[in-house]
Amino acid sequence: MSEPNTNEPGEVREIRINPVVPSESVLVATARSMRPKKAEELAPRDTRKHVETCPFCRGNEHKTPPAILAWPEKADWRIRMVENLYPVLGDDREQVNFNFGLQQTIDGYGRHEVIIDHYEHGIAVHEMAEPHLAALFGVYQTRMRQLFESDARLKYVLVFKNFGPAAGASIPHTHSQVIAMPVVPENVDAEVRNSAAHYAKHHHCIFCALIDEALTFEATIYDRNSGAVRRKINVGQYVVERGEKFIAIKPFASRYEWEVHILPLAHQADFLDVRGEDMADLARVMKRTMARLDAVIGGAQYNFFLHSVPHDARQGAHAASYHWHLEICPRTSIPTGFELGSGLFVNTINPEQAAERLRAVDL
Ligand SMILES: [Zn+2]
Ligand SMILES: [Zn+2]
Ligand SMILES: [Zn+2]
Repeated sequence: MSEPNTNEPGEVREIRINPVVPSESVLVATARSMRPKKAEELAPRDTRKHVETCPFCRGNEHKTPPAILAWPEKADWRIRMVENLYPVLGDDREQVNFNFGLQQTIDGYGRHEVIIDHYEHGIAVHEMAEPHLAALFGVYQTRMRQLFESDARLKYVLVFKNFGPAAGASIPHTHSQVIAMPVVPENVDAEVRNSAAHYAKHHHCIFCALIDEALTFEATIYDRNSGAVRRKINVGQYVVERGEKFIAIKPFASRYEWEVHILPLAHQADFLDVRGEDMADLARVMKRTMARLDAVIGGAQYNFFLHSVPHDARQGAHAASYHWHLEICPRTSIPTGFELGSGLFVNTINPEQAAERLRAVDL
């Protein structure tokens, strides 16, 4: 039996509304007895440098489809990109869209490609050298640009990475994926629409406002009846890592316990606009953020994905209202029927405390 107001100090049980996409909310429930979730088992990481039978390891190039690009273009490549053998969207086949009553379809046209992030089989992102990571972000950018230039039907290019079995990685060799599709994915579209509405009302980018708040906001909220301090928001409370050009932030309404977002500090809607010389700082912030996550979680299994302004909207109003970002979502618990059925994410770790633990890691 639990009575109201008997939560231990620091324990949180509240529904937090995502400031960018208000329809997406998170139940933050940190009391142990409240956790309606099962922890994801930590899978041992494959740390081998080279695996004879792995199609993504050097020397096995004949086991993959031909390379789309390689960096450098030599036998001792460091990053290599190939077609996905089992694409979720595929080929150049034109198909008439099928519409029957409420059954509407769009042709599953697109491209699905694999980037072998590193020639070393089991290397983790935080173990990669900064120049290598910078080159990897450069490969993401180059390929996105090439795909948009190649075909006007492509509306969005999603770059993402699954790392570890809990995150859905089927091949243990470290890799990212690129999916070019004929529609803008719903969750990107929701961010674009909501940030545009915010811009129309307030004349500033909501992501820039979130960064400003993370860096400068300081407030104490008192209970009106008792006068007790209900919440204290401190300067930099949500900042995990800060570079010269990029910042890693723990979202206030984090869906995942260890979720962290990386954004450019200065307003920028399109990942394609990141300048070559700024990739080094992005790599540094990424490497340090991943090292913090790895240290705290102990072998992070995660998904990360890049959200950038849809290509067709990059010149218009969305250039001012949208702000590209990288969402890192470590998988430490298994979603339950409650989450799937309600659409409400459950986070069992207070985001403020999670950020504090991540910051405390000695790098
Ligand atoms: Zn391999
Ligand atoms: Zn902005
Ligand atoms: Zn996003």
